[in-house]
Amino acid sequence: MIQNYENFIAGQWVSAVSGKTFSTVNPADIREIVAHYSQGGSADFAAATAAASNAFPKWAALTPVARGRVLSKAAQILESRKAELAILLTREEGKTLAEATGEVGRAVDIFRFYGGLSYVVGGQTLPHDLPGNLLMTRREPLGVVALITPWNFPIAIPAWKLVPALLCGNTLVLKPASQAPAMALELARVLAEAGLPAGVLNVVAGEGRAFGAEIASNPAIQALSFTGSHTVGSGLYQSLAPRMIRVQLEMGSKNPTLVLADADLDLAARLVATAGFGLTGQACTATSRVIVERAVLENFTEKLVGLAKNWKVGSGLSAGVQMGPAVNADEFEGNFQAIRQAQLEGARLIWGGERLSEGEMAHGYFMQPTVLGEVTPFMTIAQEEVFGPVVAVLGVDSFDEAISVANGVPYGLSASLVTRDFKKALQYAERIECGVVKVNQISTGLALQAPFGGVKNSSTDTFREQGTAALDFYSRSKTVYLDYSA
Ligand code: NAP
Repeated sequence: MIQNYENFIAGQWVSAVSGKTFSTVNPADIREIVAHYSQGGSADFAAATAAASNAFPKWAALTPVARGRVLSKAAQILESRKAELAILLTREEGKTLAEATGEVGRAVDIFRFYGGLSYVVGGQTLPHDLPGNLLMTRREPLGVVALITPWNFPIAIPAWKLVPALLCGNTLVLKPASQAPAMALELARVLAEAGLPAGVLNVVAGEGRAFGAEIASNPAIQALSFTGSHTVGSGLYQSLAPRMIRVQLEMGSKNPTLVLADADLDLAARLVATAGFGLTGQACTATSRVIVERAVLENFTEKLVGLAKNWKVGSGLSAGVQMGPAVNADEFEGNFQAIRQAQLEGARLIWGGERLSEGEMAHGYFMQPTVLGEVTPFMTIAQEEVFGPVVAVLGVDSFDEAISVANGVPYGLSASLVTRDFKKALQYAERIECGVVKVNQISTGLALQAPFGGVKNSSTDTFREQGTAALDFYSRSKTVYLDYSA
């Protein structure tokens, strides 16, 4: 069934002013149209910003508890629609139904978490130097906040931005990725049903560049939270510098998993395969480099390749499938291009690298999970994000060399380590340059209550997302001094 979406502005479903539309297709079978959309442009982003501005005073005046009630109600509505939304997510983005169900469930939990947190959001009271004096801080919203999200977690990422932003009392304009906008528009529907006043959340699918220009020029917009590529993020950062507004960028990475000589190699291979091939490698926290002590390099690689050979690839809606298609032709071609480049630079294709087109895969962007060996630290494949199921294996002679190779990239988001050595685990946590460290765990997967973000080119490295840390980005603190001694 083909869905039809308009944009959600000031509580109404409206067509784009230009009348332009676009469609999404199922990456598992590109003959299938998933949804038609109104293609928002400058006039639509301006209208959405005006609606958010108008809605701000009333929404900001509510107590956090009142705002939290809307979020808790939305959690219930979203949960009741979990199965249906997961199927739509899989059809539009391609990930497996299990992955999509988990992601919608994560969005439900995010609403629930911040709904509950609404009872304790507030400022601080501090002891003053003098008696009869009250010293306290108030947590206040920023105003209209712009949100820009990528396609790879089309419901979890919009949720982890917009829910804490709403709790803090901001009003929003959200632009989801054109590749998969359905989930963001469904969130608007769910929140409207939960009682969110008109104009508080506006969702406009459409041209990224037009929204970027609106944020750069419209003084009503007080902040931007962006997740996506470093190329787009850094361009936005520069264009917003003259306005000096608050900006949070979370971007790409080149996440390592280190496998030390003492590691349980079956566990290591399973963790790397899950974090490298799961979600078709299209996660900002995916493992794309495995840095292995040479003493176990051959043994580990054999185990990893064994898993890759048996990794079940197919339509995300088919039973037992572990890996769906690449999201679109560009990403798909980009994966093969990265593999070819790695081979040209001297890497060895140990397994994979082929398109899969038999049976149900005939009309989709399917490929084999891929393992490249004999990779050295400065090859392109060891330095640049691929965003596909391509794992590069690098051999090292020591723990120290492993850390130096792991840190030798311009990114730093998530980094995993497989070892039984507690001391090395803690040293790793201290020395690795990244925002998230995992020991004996997959590099993907996050706890919603914990801070999340990167360092170096993975992030603006200013504010963290998720958990209570997210509230710091979406609010500012005001300090109040009150003398009642007289
Ligand atoms: P992208 O191409 O940078 O797009 C991200 C968003 O920016 C989309 O909504 C896109 O809209 C919009 N956009 C594009 N050009 C713009 C412009 N000039 N001004 C304003 N907005 C613009 O990234 P993607 O391909 O969707 O996502 C993959 C990337 O996201 C990877 O690098 C991945 O590592 C990163 N990511 C990072 C995290 C994290 O938390 N660190 C999480 C997930 C993904 P259109 O779709 O309309 O072009």
